[in-house]
Amino acid sequence: MTTEVVDPATGEVLGKVPSTSVGETDAAIGRAHVAFERWRGVAPGERARVLRRFAAVVDAHVEELAGLEVRNSGHPIGNARWEAGNVRDVLDYYAGAPERLTGHQIPVPGGLDVTFHEPLGVVGVIVPWNFPMPIAAWGFAPALAAGNTVVLKPAELTPLTALRLAELGREAGLPDDVFTVLPGAGSVVGERFVTHPAVRKVCFTGSTEVGTRIMAGCAAQVKRLTLELGGKSANLVFADADLARAAATAPYAVFDNAGQDCCARSRILVQRPVYDRFLELLEPAVRALRVEDPTRETAEMGPLISAAQRDRVAGYVDGAKVAFTGSCPDGPGFWYPPTVLLADSPADRHWREEIFGPVVSVLPFDDEADAIRLANDTEYGLSGSIWTRDVGRAVRVARAVEAGNLSVNSHSSVRYWTPFGGMKRSGLGRELGQDALHAFTDVKNVFIATEE
Ligand code: NAP
Ligand code: MG
Repeated sequence: MTTEVVDPATGEVLGKVPSTSVGETDAAIGRAHVAFERWRGVAPGERARVLRRFAAVVDAHVEELAGLEVRNSGHPIGNARWEAGNVRDVLDYYAGAPERLTGHQIPVPGGLDVTFHEPLGVVGVIVPWNFPMPIAAWGFAPALAAGNTVVLKPAELTPLTALRLAELGREAGLPDDVFTVLPGAGSVVGERFVTHPAVRKVCFTGSTEVGTRIMAGCAAQVKRLTLELGGKSANLVFADADLARAAATAPYAVFDNAGQDCCARSRILVQRPVYDRFLELLEPAVRALRVEDPTRETAEMGPLISAAQRDRVAGYVDGAKVAFTGSCPDGPGFWYPPTVLLADSPADRHWREEIFGPVVSVLPFDDEADAIRLANDTEYGLSGSIWTRDVGRAVRVARAVEAGNLSVNSHSSVRYWTPFGGMKRSGLGRELGQDALHAFTDVKNVFIATEE
């Protein structure tokens, strides 16, 4: 069985990729389990050297990987280069970990008490189609650094860069079966990661719907689990903010990756006295966004991933109050223009549900308490921005908003050395930084009696 891979900017078929069967998945997990016994015993310094070489090989292939992603995912070439560079940086960062993964010595009477960070075994990483390269690396790099082996399932729509990364890992000297990429369906390969007893942890990024099913599946074995799920994040603009900057960056906070971003600030809340002025400033910024052939160096936004995703997005805009839109190519390919909607109330469907497309909804608010209440009136809690010049307010609001990643006077969310993840139904656990590393180990406590 094979799956066709499509260029979303043109609708052209790029080629076919094998679909891994249940039997082949089991065999790969079995080999990864055997490889674990060797990999965990590799001296920390040697594991670090292999990961550093992996980072160097990725660095030498940034242009090739970026080119693959442009064709398979429709990401603008500049973004795709950043994504490939992020894989390199994440590998480099976690290459520093093996020798630093130290336990504690705890004072106890009658003996010596020490802790170890033990690797878990085989880790199953399940990756969505929106950021195929970074999300894969956020799973496999810390997992490998901590001494685990990895089986990774890319999204059926976007397997090409993951398959290439597995080859580059081997080229860098990763031993056989330490890092295996298994393209195929979620209902086949992904499900098997959940049910197979030798997979000791699942690292899932994707929809809240599938994430909750995976969590239920993992419960039977008390399998370790990291979930990075959906979002409906707020961009809070207070009347005292630098409005020009807030408006100039708001398009990038939501239309980056054509809005197919779990961190998208897709609800803009503007304090009433500056509401009209903010929209006046936002309109030219949205119209100026360059939505074009993603192979062009000037492209800022590409197509959506599929016709189905485009139709889903259009379904949210139908019947809603459109303030203004940007432009986009007619097609072929799965294009949709950046679109700004005015919400009538926080009950609007486009205000409440994750659209995962280039659509943002705007709503006015009265005061700080109102802003916090509206920002938290969602099942999600992934990211958000706060625009104000009042330091006290920035801190108060940042503490009150229920989200894992907030930025003040900025729209950025991700730095590979800081923790990333969601509250509420946006997820469980954290990726990146030191927090993620420990989540790929179990702590073992050993007491050694010293008394005769
Ligand atoms: P999804 O269905 O959750 O898929 C994410 C990954 O999980 C894919 O690799 C998928 O495989 C796999 N999967 C699907 N069903 C599975 C199962 N039963 N067991 C194990 N793995 C399974 O997400 P999607 O279909 O790509 O997108 C749907 C919506 O999810 C989006 O519109 C968006 O709202 C949200 N989303 C969020 C993020 C995020 O970063 N938080 C990312 C992507 C999507 P297949 O290749 O077979 O689909
Ligand atoms: Mg799906």
